[in-house]
Amino acid sequence: MATIIRCSSLSHYTDCPRRSAAKMFFNELSEEYGFDLTPTKTSAGAAVGTAMHKSLEAAIVLRAKGQPYAEEIKKVAEASIIESAREGIIWDDTTFDRSAGVLQAVRQAHAILDVFPELDEIAIEGEFTADLGDDFVLSGHIDIRGREGQKHTIQDFKSGTVKRVNIPQYGGYSLLVRTAGQKVDLLREIYVKRVGKTKAQPAPVVQDYDPAMAENFAYAIIKKIKSDLQAFRKSGSPWVWLPNPNSMMCSPHYCPAYGTKFCKCKTKETKNV
Ligand code: SF4
Repeated sequence: MATIIRCSSLSHYTDCPRRSAAKMFFNELSEEYGFDLTPTKTSAGAAVGTAMHKSLEAAIVLRAKGQPYAEEIKKVAEASIIESAREGIIWDDTTFDRSAGVLQAVRQAHAILDVFPELDEIAIEGEFTADLGDDFVLSGHIDIRGREGQKHTIQDFKSGTVKRVNIPQYGGYSLLVRTAGQKVDLLREIYVKRVGKTKAQPAPVVQDYDPAMAENFAYAIIKKIKSDLQAFRKSGSPWVWLPNPNSMMCSPHYCPAYGTKFCKCKTKETKNV
């Protein structure tokens, strides 16, 4: 079976390649190489982000038909948070329970819809794949492909307490869409901040990226992911992947390799500062 590289994994790879490998190749590393990796739960940020995406998708479809969508946003956000909670969510100081998560997803979705009344979609939430050779496949789930004047855009919604740089992810999307024979002139991120329940929801922030630069970035990481995994399959050594114990995500909450044979940089007893 082909090895899947998801566009959403690309931006994380340079932070800690070993953690990324543990997440991306969890089944292969556990089942074929016997590493004792530990499944991680969904972060509160990811759960709210997923709920916001699902709500937006439903709302944009209804709005395009001229139908009301406020109730649907709430219903979809609630269902999504409940579904994530079933698998387990790591709550944090900004989203400390389900009701906070639902409220944040709902108001983030509204903030985006209020600022972008014209979201002119060609296709919502499209799944794309491309053959990378050597039995690797690139895969990505794109929020919206749209138009801005004559420009063909890829638009991605992001939420979080901090705005991060996701250029490689968008470069991967651009590669996928162009491989499918379609044009890409502009990559656009629409970021909305996740803030505590009692704070006012800030307006979204738009960030545009050049597709050529983003594709180069994505392709460099894809080549590295492929060659690292191929080297590991020959040696069986985790040292193919550099660890980064200074990463903000170096924690048992976020890393399946933390304190295991796959990465002993920190033990379960290590206290993060
Ligand atoms: S424990 Fe830390 S250094 Fe090791 S793989 Fe995980 S995040 Fe990277």
